[in-house]
Amino acid sequence: MAEVKINCAVSKKCGGCQLSNMTYSQQLSFKQAKVVKLLGKMHRVEEIVPSPRKLHYRNKVQAAFGRTKSGMIISGVYQSSTHNIVRTDACCIEDEKADAIIVTVRELIKSFNLTVFDERSGEGFLRHVLVKRAFATGEIMVVLVTGTPVFKSKNAFCEELLRRHPDITTVIQNVNNRFTSLVLGDKETVLYGTGYITDELCGLKFRISSKSFYQINRDCAELMFSHALDSVGLTGDEVVIDAYSGVGTIGLIASKQAKKVISVELNPDAVRDAKINAKINGIRNAAFYCADASDFMAEMAKENERADLVIMDPPRAGSTVTFMKSVLRLLPEKVLYISCNPETLARDLTFFLKNGYRIRLCQPYDMFPFTEHVETVCLMSRVEGK
Ligand code: SAH
Repeated sequence: MAEVKINCAVSKKCGGCQLSNMTYSQQLSFKQAKVVKLLGKMHRVEEIVPSPRKLHYRNKVQAAFGRTKSGMIISGVYQSSTHNIVRTDACCIEDEKADAIIVTVRELIKSFNLTVFDERSGEGFLRHVLVKRAFATGEIMVVLVTGTPVFKSKNAFCEELLRRHPDITTVIQNVNNRFTSLVLGDKETVLYGTGYITDELCGLKFRISSKSFYQINRDCAELMFSHALDSVGLTGDEVVIDAYSGVGTIGLIASKQAKKVISVELNPDAVRDAKINAKINGIRNAAFYCADASDFMAEMAKENERADLVIMDPPRAGSTVTFMKSVLRLLPEKVLYISCNPETLARDLTFFLKNGYRIRLCQPYDMFPFTEHVETVCLMSRVEGK
């Protein structure tokens, strides 16, 4: 394998690429060893699948805006666990187009005499820029996160931004005037285009809004979803629950080979996208619920519902005992656990192993090259008679 290495001047300050001093094959060995250490006692760990793109794989890029002491407008990433901005114009793992757009926004802020937000005083205009790019379709969303709703010369600003980057398909102003470390606020105005982008994954179209989760390494996610569903081997008769479903990705991909898919997700914007995604793909056997996954599963268990397959893809904190106890009561033949944190995966697998499930497959993916993070898919099946 050709050895990919990065040479980044700010890697220490930024802290985003914890493995930047390793070659790509060293990173794979490091991640394999991490998963084996945590899960190896429970089951054999397959060899980690490399990321199709090693560099510039991040399709979602965020930059914070601020000023230096001398008043110069800067943009970049927050130094890990602080709010000091590390200045960057380019990054080895972020989409290059997104980075170029952010640099242009910074130039336009100056030429339009706009201000940047000051976290201490709560005054000023531009706070963050978020760019999302659909790699399969080329669509690009730019979200300008501002501290105030008033946007002086917004039409001229957008026109110039689009003139310099004609491939931008939508521009959104998001107002966030609170003291918070969350990037996005509640109020949004679409300044150009539709307000969302559409990507393609495993032959389906997925519409994504600014606040909806979408896998940041699209090509690796496509590999992972198709392998994972192949390993399940659906026949067309199954009732599938897709928990922590985002914009509906894996559930909708599975729906073609299942009787029915029931998806549950907490973020209302993602649920709205998921419902539209079912429609635009002509899928009629999928239902979507906006709820806390644990509450929803407990309710399903109380109603004595049954499922043949439970797919769960929780955030880094993993799932909950309430969720998993409810899964047991739904008696699924198979559970497909997709995890972005092997530590919480190990904890949750221990619960399933104590309660009548066996691991059939444990497959890591290098979804986040140059970072310490690793994605793992674990297929479990119920032991007869339990
Ligand atoms: N399976 C999707 C999304 C996975 S990311 C995909 O691969 O595209 C995890 C998702 O869980 C996010 O969309 C997040 O909004 C959602 N989530 C977080 N906490 C939740 C909870 N308590 N109940 C339901 N969904 C939750």
